[in-house]
Amino acid sequence: MITLTGKKIAEGIAVGKLAFYSRGEREIRRICVEDTEKELLRFQKAREKADQELREICLMSEKELGEANAMIFEMQQMILADEEFVNGVTKIICGQRWNAEYAVQEAAESFVDLFSSRDTSYIRGHEADVRDVAFRLVRILARSRKDRRLMGEPFIMAARDLYPSEALQLDKSKVLGFVTMYGSINSHTAALARTRGIPSVIGIGDALKKDYDGKTVIIDGFDGKLYIEPDHSTMKRMLQKKKQNVRRAEVLERLKGKENVTQSGQKIDVCANIGAREDIESVLSNDANGIGLFRSEFLYMENGGKLPTEDQQFRVYRMAAEAMGMKRVVIRAADIGGDKQAECVRIPSEANPMMGYRGIRILLDKEEMFRTQLRAVLRASAFGNLAIMFPMITAVEEVTAAKKILEKVKEELRSEKIAFDHKIEIGVMIETPAAVMLSGELAREVDFFSIGTNDLTQYTLAMDRQNLRLSGYYNPHHPALIKMIRIVANNVHLEGKRIGICGDLAADVSLTEMFLKMGIDELSVAPSQILPLRKKIREIR
Ligand code: PEP
Ligand code: MG
Repeated sequence: MITLTGKKIAEGIAVGKLAFYSRGEREIRRICVEDTEKELLRFQKAREKADQELREICLMSEKELGEANAMIFEMQQMILADEEFVNGVTKIICGQRWNAEYAVQEAAESFVDLFSSRDTSYIRGHEADVRDVAFRLVRILARSRKDRRLMGEPFIMAARDLYPSEALQLDKSKVLGFVTMYGSINSHTAALARTRGIPSVIGIGDALKKDYDGKTVIIDGFDGKLYIEPDHSTMKRMLQKKKQNVRRAEVLERLKGKENVTQSGQKIDVCANIGAREDIESVLSNDANGIGLFRSEFLYMENGGKLPTEDQQFRVYRMAAEAMGMKRVVIRAADIGGDKQAECVRIPSEANPMMGYRGIRILLDKEEMFRTQLRAVLRASAFGNLAIMFPMITAVEEVTAAKKILEKVKEELRSEKIAFDHKIEIGVMIETPAAVMLSGELAREVDFFSIGTNDLTQYTLAMDRQNLRLSGYYNPHHPALIKMIRIVANNVHLEGKRIGICGDLAADVSLTEMFLKMGIDELSVAPSQILPLRKKIREIR
């Protein structure tokens, strides 16, 4: 058994086979196969199919392009039948027990290396043809593969790192958990793993080797451990822990329907942070008081490089509004930039993206895009209790400019006789020291604040939230940060407005009592953290 340690980002125990995910190499994953005979048969069938395809191409090109061109494909048929190539693939499948796709790719590369230098070889100068043949085979194999993913057998994903959009797309019915070599606990990937309740450990480093592909592993998301080929006693201990977790969940289950109230009667709202419509189900099942943060930028990051249309967005926001009924849903206007790069909003490369073109700066600059989103939110506001929140605010002028655009969009809808909530609440994220210092002035402009402690920490401490080397210094309990939260709470309450916290700190139960004393009105956390937080609140005297 090998034990690897990383950073825990989402609790839970997951047991399964490890499968490496490599961006751009999705088709060719190396998988250890049990039944080599079956794998050989797959290769044989793929060869027959490839041969048939090449024969057809040959005939077609002879007819349309002449004999000389047709010979290219005759040559490819020869490669397909080449004894050396076929033996190379067979050896990798039978000797090393790797899957056919991987074997084809490896054998093709060795074939190129071996023959391209020989004067007498017919391969010389035809390396691209070898690769073309290999690609054809892999494509055919990929279709026939009874893959763990395609078959739906759940597995544990391993990767160098995961982008937030990839964490968002993980199919929870197939991916039991994930582990990565790199990544930071303060990243959006981590936030998504928590929101989606996927046991995960990140930042394991180079110790997470490709050789472990296909091996049975256990993720202990409570302790940040990955056990490769666990021994009997570890397996027993982990299954026991999993059971305990189920029992803990049962205790939490009993808190559903109960109020978030301390023993002395102080109430606080506990809401959910989400990033996609798929998260709404867990918001409901965890009995949230509302959605305190809908990270709408994920709609932009997951739209095949195109801006989401007004209708596309409207449907998602309406669904959230209807699902939550009277409970409030705060849609944060797209906070694109930093580590949330969306292909549809091209940002020229920046030396420091976290301090660059981001959030409200993009929204005010790309007014058309902003207006489309505002129209979608306003239209959806007719179907529930929606609020809109502006991200990355550093100046009062940004808020007045955003409000002006909102007013124009409202006017437009009025003239089109489209229903919307005329009194929709407006809020701002407090994520920068500038916003803290201006919180009194900002409070006069809006209905509520939500403190984004993740960004507020990084900008206050001048410490990149993603920089692994700084993780020892990155202190979300830093007295400067706590002082800032207190200042903001006082200022917003002086104006009679509401204040919530939606950064990771909101879920930190060691601070709950202090937040209650500050008079924080709402804590917004990943859905899986709602009930543990409720438990804590109800224990406070
Ligand atoms: C934050 O900064 O704390 C926050 C909630 O926003 P995000 O994590 O999406 O940047
Ligand atoms: Mg933020």
